[in-house]
Amino acid sequence: MSETTFMGVERDKIDWKPTIDYTKCDYCMECVKFCPHKVFEVRESEVIKLIVRNANNCVVFCRACSKICGPDALSFPDKNATTQRIKEIRREESNG
Ligand code: SF4
Ligand code: SF4
Repeated sequence: MSETTFMGVERDKIDWKPTIDYTKCDYCMECVKFCPHKVFEVRESEVIKLIVRNANNCVVFCRACSKICGPDALSFPDKNATTQRIKEIRREESNG
């Protein structure tokens, strides 16, 4: 359980992380080198050599790694929908 919060909501309740499109990814690992938060994990000996291991380490609303991904293999949830969901969670929690 994470103790980090974002907009007053526990980080692990917020669905924000990169999704890797394996039909596009060429395993260049630029995203791994770029992101300082250990979101990705390289798995040398596996068929799928890159996974999203620590989704909750991803900075909410950051999309920076998708901009350095040549094949455009990284996608993220919709920002407005995520903002709405965070507000809903806050309302739910304040209503007990
Ligand atoms: S930068 Fe893009 S293509 Fe390269 S490993 Fe990451 S997701 Fe795959
Ligand atoms: S969006 Fe930002 S924090 Fe999340 S994995 Fe990419 S570079 Fe790291």
